[in-house]
Amino acid sequence: MTSIDLTYDVPGHWVAGTVVPATTTMEIVSPVDGRVVATAPLGTAADVDRAVEAARTALPGWAGLGPAARADVLGVLADELTARSERIAHAISTEIGVPIGFSRLAQAAFPPLVTKAVAALAAEISWEERAGNALLVREPVGVVGAITPWNFPLQQVVTKVVPALLAGNTVVLKPAETAPLTGPILAEAAAAAGIPAGVLNIVYGTGSVVGEAIAAHPGIDMVSFTGSTAAGRRVAAVAADTVKRVGLELGGKTASIALDDADFDEVVAETLQYAWSNSGQACGAWTRLLVPAARHDEIVAKLREAAAEYTVGDPADETTRLGPVASEAQWQRVNGYIEKGLAEGAELVIGGPGRVPGLEGGAFIRPTIFANVDPDSTIAQEEIFGPVLSVIAYTDDDDAVRIANGTPYGLTAAVFGSDSRALSIARRLEVGQVHVNGGAFTPLAPFGGRKQSGTGREMGKSGIEEFTELKAILL
Ligand code: NAD
Repeated sequence: MTSIDLTYDVPGHWVAGTVVPATTTMEIVSPVDGRVVATAPLGTAADVDRAVEAARTALPGWAGLGPAARADVLGVLADELTARSERIAHAISTEIGVPIGFSRLAQAAFPPLVTKAVAALAAEISWEERAGNALLVREPVGVVGAITPWNFPLQQVVTKVVPALLAGNTVVLKPAETAPLTGPILAEAAAAAGIPAGVLNIVYGTGSVVGEAIAAHPGIDMVSFTGSTAAGRRVAAVAADTVKRVGLELGGKTASIALDDADFDEVVAETLQYAWSNSGQACGAWTRLLVPAARHDEIVAKLREAAAEYTVGDPADETTRLGPVASEAQWQRVNGYIEKGLAEGAELVIGGPGRVPGLEGGAFIRPTIFANVDPDSTIAQEEIFGPVLSVIAYTDDDDAVRIANGTPYGLTAAVFGSDSRALSIARRLEVGQVHVNGGAFTPLAPFGGRKQSGTGREMGKSGIEEFTELKAILL
């Protein structure tokens, strides 16, 4: 195993290729036992001003390089991230309690994968094309402000920062305040890859101070936000004064639909994995399982059996499937939803409220399944962001589609059944991405939401075009 630097403190903001120490810092607390594991800077609006100035200064040089040269640099960035993957996995496991195995497999492995894929797509974008007598030219938007959440701390950064850089923009990034520990690793990898000073700047701090300063800043041309629907609404409102472009990747309430001709063993295995990985803290977590009413009890029995494999424990233990949720605040919130489910009359299959026996000192949630859940109840409508699955019975295909579409969200969905039937259901779902019979993640497919799950797309060619302005030159 690679040797690991266990000193995770974030020494300062990263502005114009230099570490800028902060006057105020905050403590990063382990959700495993409440220990302070690091400190990180708490930035101010003045720090954002300095970062914007650096990004504006670096913009002409970076934009002038052209897509092919930028793609080469980003290809090297992918390698530099891979070279640091063990540190990345440990940093994320430390700050949000993700089991080390999953942290290696997803939290550390996805960012270089996405970076490589984005760099390769440079050759497939029409940077210039003709339309009648017009020459259409894709140009960078300018300085992009990126605001990201804590649940996949580096992956959420990379899916916006790398396409933005490829398109020729420079960036001011604000990572989630509770999960900042991969920020310095990213800065180090970017410098090693040859990304010029000022092209990527990182200001740490809270949403209300640093985040809103980014959204409001007249020197920032676009704000790309990933996080809760409530905060996204606020970002869009703050950004409106300067009429900047806004990309919003928000919450979700994914329905996994089992048609009556599906392989129920596959449904159960896939649904639990997508529902509970990362302790259910994923925007696309499959939190509702829609089953034919006549097969409800049969599927619930299979779920109960499969759920036994999901051991909760110390994230440092290689065999742990579920760590804690990311913080005590998150524990209170998720536990509150479990109590609400009981109060609203859902049938508890496994789990339930309260601390996990033997792990009382940490933010460990008992992975929970509710059956016979009313599709209009709180736990079936609101994003819980914890390991809680609701099984909902439907009467026929139309009813399944109605229930699946019946929340304010529209991010992702899943359908299992015979291929043509499942595909026709997939076409009727009001979401940005659908898995049919376990169709796997690919960074080539755009990801993003409809309704209150957001606007815009990340990844794929559209995720790069999102960070460009289209100019028509009439000849
Ligand atoms: P959050 O909204 O609390 O915070 C996200 C980021 O926004 C953080 O950096 C935070 O500091 C910042 N922020 C908060 N208030 C702000 C404000 N007023 N102005 C500017 N910035 C502000 O979300 P979270 O708890 O970190 O993450 C969980 C949420 O993120 C969930 O709702 C989840 O569904 C969503 N999410 C969505 C996607 C997606 O691609 N659609 C991916 C991951 C997470």
